[in-house]
Amino acid sequence: MTMILDLLRDAFTFSRIPDSYYEAKKTISKLCLDYIKIDACPNDCMLFLGNDANEKTCKYCHTSRWKPIKKRNEDLVSATGKEKIKKKTKKPAKILRYFPLKPRLQRLFMCSKIAKHMRWHAEDGDRDGVTRHPRDGITRDQWTSFVNYRYKEETQNMCKRNAENRKKQTVPHTGGSKPNSRRRAEMMAETGSKPRRAQLYLAIHTKKDASYVNEQAKEICSSYAVSGLVSPTNTRRSSGASNPSDNH
Ligand SMILES: [Zn+2]
Repeated sequence: MTMILDLLRDAFTFSRIPDSYYEAKKTISKLCLDYIKIDACPNDCMLFLGNDANEKTCKYCHTSRWKPIKKRNEDLVSATGKEKIKKKTKKPAKILRYFPLKPRLQRLFMCSKIAKHMRWHAEDGDRDGVTRHPRDGITRDQWTSFVNYRYKEETQNMCKRNAENRKKQTVPHTGGSKPNSRRRAEMMAETGSKPRRAQLYLAIHTKKDASYVNEQAKEICSSYAVSGLVSPTNTRRSSGASNPSDNH
C-alpha cells in the first residue's frame, strides 16, 4: 500500500498524497470513511452476518469460510522463513468492506456547500406547481405504481415494440422530447381551437426557417394541403402568426 502511495506521489506531483499507509488510514478515519469488514463466501453466495456470523462454511455451496491453512503456511515460510508465526489464526477467504450509511451522510453534511444541496428538497421554496421531482408532491403510492407499470411484462414488450417502430421511421421530426399531448395543449391555447392531426404533423416536421425536415415530410404536408387539412404557408409552430382559416 505504501508503495502504491509512492507511485501516486510520483504520478501526481501537484497533489497531497499521504506519506504512508498509516497516514492515509488516519486521514480516512478522520473523515469518517471507516468501513466494516464482513466475511463473505468465496463464491459470493452469502455473508457471515447476523445469525450466520459464526458459521464456518457457506450454507449454499459449503465452501470453507477460511483460507486454506496449508497454502498460507507455505506463503509464510517462503516470505519470512518462520513457520511458527500465527500458525493457527484463521484468515477469512473473502471480505466485504461495507461503508455504513450514517457516517457517509454525516460526512456529506460536514461541508456547508454540500449540506445545502442535501437539504435542497426540503428547504427550496421554488414550488411552481409543476412536478419535476418526487418532493413536488408525488406520493409513494404513485411512484410505486409507476415503477410497477414500467417493469410490467406488458410495458416492457410495448417498449420493445416502440423501439422497433422508431427504427423504421424515416422522417425525422423537430419536436424534441416534448410530448404531442403537451404540444397540442399549447397549440390549443395559442389558437383557441384543437389542432388537427395534420396541423400537429406540420408543426413538428418543419424547421425554424419554415423549410421541411426532408422531402418525404414535404410530400406529406403538401398532400395535406391539397386535401384542405392545413394551409402549408402559415401553420408554423409557435409562430403566433394568425391565419384567417384558424380564426373560426
Ligand atoms: Zn458459497
